[in-house]
Amino acid sequence: MNHQSLERILERALMGYDLSPPEGLLLLQQTDPNYTSSICHTADRLRQKQAGDTITYVINRNINFTNICEQHCNFCAFRRDSGEDGFYWLDWTQILEKTTDAVNHGATEICMQGGLNPEAKINGQSLPYYIKLVETIKQEFPQLHLHAFSPQEVQFIAREDSLTYAEVITALTDAGVNSMPGTAAEVLDDAVRRVICPEKIDSATWLEIVGTAHQLGLPTTSTMLSGHIETPQQQITHLEKLRLLQQKAVNQGYTARITEFILLPFVGKEAPQTLRKRVGRDQPVLADALLLTAIARIYLGNWIPNHQPSWVKLGLAGATEALSWGSNDIGGTLMEEHITTMAGAIGGTCMEASRLQTAIASLNRPYQQRDTLYQPVSMKAEQEFCV
Ligand code: SF4
Repeated sequence: MNHQSLERILERALMGYDLSPPEGLLLLQQTDPNYTSSICHTADRLRQKQAGDTITYVINRNINFTNICEQHCNFCAFRRDSGEDGFYWLDWTQILEKTTDAVNHGATEICMQGGLNPEAKINGQSLPYYIKLVETIKQEFPQLHLHAFSPQEVQFIAREDSLTYAEVITALTDAGVNSMPGTAAEVLDDAVRRVICPEKIDSATWLEIVGTAHQLGLPTTSTMLSGHIETPQQQITHLEKLRLLQQKAVNQGYTARITEFILLPFVGKEAPQTLRKRVGRDQPVLADALLLTAIARIYLGNWIPNHQPSWVKLGLAGATEALSWGSNDIGGTLMEEHITTMAGAIGGTCMEASRLQTAIASLNRPYQQRDTLYQPVSMKAEQEFCV
């Protein structure tokens, strides 16, 4: 491809046309710095058009209630068997303590996900256990936004209790879940999934559960685990599936949709040996993550306006750089991050809001605290919470 045909694709994107999958693939295959800087520039202009100049962040806390998990994903350094060295399972008091601490430090959101623990049951049933998790938080703090339980967790509950996905989602929503993390998407390609997460739900099931959430009024996020064994074609297929899913929600008139796209570059340092060896590096390649960030903006931005890099995976400096490649949000404070940190990530486990603000201000861009659904939150003097 010459520079002229690349410029034509980018001009059409700036005029508001969606990229086709072959066009997306062409962009992803560029390595010439002249070409990649044109892609970056286009993504940045689209970000400005679709999401404005203000960079947002959310004050939230992760609660990963257990790392006991029946599955064995090949990128996961977090999971443990029950009783194995390093396993844990929070009790109700610990969950409430962590939530109270988060609220005292200004959190508007709890993000709750955990391993798939077959012992996590009440009266032999999985759903009542998950409902109790929700009620433990929401009875005390009804105003908190609870962003909880991935499509994989929904499938796990449905399977354990012989329920439909709609029954599980409805029960969790009725109990107080406000949105669903779009995690467990990894790469929505079953050939990739068979290698990196062979026991996980397949692509069609992920799409079905997220689509059901939208239909039932539960907003979701969307993610992609990039930079391991997937090809550029599989990356574009993933973006295309997300775009079609969002288009369906829009065309059906659902108010609940995908609120954001988060790129999660693979961190291999402590990951199981087979995948780590196959990928051949411990930390993400920043240039690859930035190019994919830009192409995700160009590919999805007409439909999913909010794009977030991961400071946990890229470090704060890398995530800040991604704000010039199409991202408009720098994510959450997290307060406590286990999953990627146990995989050997460099970003740390907690981020003060003031550090996020300073990073944004270093680009001469305004910042704004938001809630989970991207509504502005009035900013108060921050109390430090990272120990
Ligand atoms: S990624 Fe999630 S489902 Fe897979 S092994 Fe780790 S905790 Fe379990």
